[in-house]
Amino acid sequence: MRIISSIKQMQEFCRRQRQKGKVIALVPTMGYLHEGHLSLMEEGRRRADLLIISIFVNPTQFGKGEDYQEYPRDLECDKGLARKVGVDVIFAPETSLMYPSGYQTWVEVTEVTKNLCGASRPGHFSGVTTVVAKLFNISKPHIALFGEKDFQQLVAIKRMVADLNFDIEIVGMPTVREEDGLALSSRNTYLSTQERTAALSLSRSLRRARGFITSGERSAPRIIRAVKAIVGREKLIDIDYIKICDVESLKELRKIDQRAVLALAVRLGKIRLIDNCILEP
Ligand code: AMP
Repeated sequence: MRIISSIKQMQEFCRRQRQKGKVIALVPTMGYLHEGHLSLMEEGRRRADLLIISIFVNPTQFGKGEDYQEYPRDLECDKGLARKVGVDVIFAPETSLMYPSGYQTWVEVTEVTKNLCGASRPGHFSGVTTVVAKLFNISKPHIALFGEKDFQQLVAIKRMVADLNFDIEIVGMPTVREEDGLALSSRNTYLSTQERTAALSLSRSLRRARGFITSGERSAPRIIRAVKAIVGREKLIDIDYIKICDVESLKELRKIDQRAVLALAVRLGKIRLIDNCILEP
């Protein structure tokens, strides 16, 4: 496994690999790897000859007062996990290389980023799409894998790839959860025992919502009310949003007569958690 931090070196390496006819898969991450990240890598390993992951805590997707400084980092541990799943290259650039002085170019997906996390975290998605576009140009992948856990991010990246004609297949992968339902997230490491217990209400409420759909309920407001009752019962939790949206436009739905996503975001002390599930009528 190679660790590359130079953009130039990475571009040259990937160009040579492409010339040799190798299929390249990229898994962009911010590191502090867990089983969710590893599931993306395993799928990339199955689909490609060369598996590249990036580890870069991208400052431009964090807003003022968010946890950029505190975001957990452990490159040594990440290297061990990446090696185990057969990663060929870790691309881990310095921030000053990715955003040198004078940097001023942004990729913005305008519509699907308005609602949900886009509304609570202004500028977040333009940071995400910009860094992902840069990573695509640097590593020239044929395939890139992203988690459905960050559903709006996945929708925005698919939109960017279609709109800007990136010749890259975007693969969405299901959310990996702890046995008790908690969606894996690097930020979970900062949850206290009580906060972690409260956080279980998220996946519990999603299961409840799916149960409603199975029993024929199609009213979004009624399902949202039920979800709010479960999550809102937790004193430690502040709800940011609970919404049911169309899976492509991410516009809110009142009636669930098409594939929809139930997405929620909460605050637990200083930690922000998101989760979602697909509702199939
Ligand atoms: P992050 O390091 O949080 O930026 O995540 C890197 C990639 O891993 C993104 O595509 C995430 O959607 C994905 N990811 C994060 N958590 C999970 C999870 N629990 N299950 C599946 N994919 C995940």
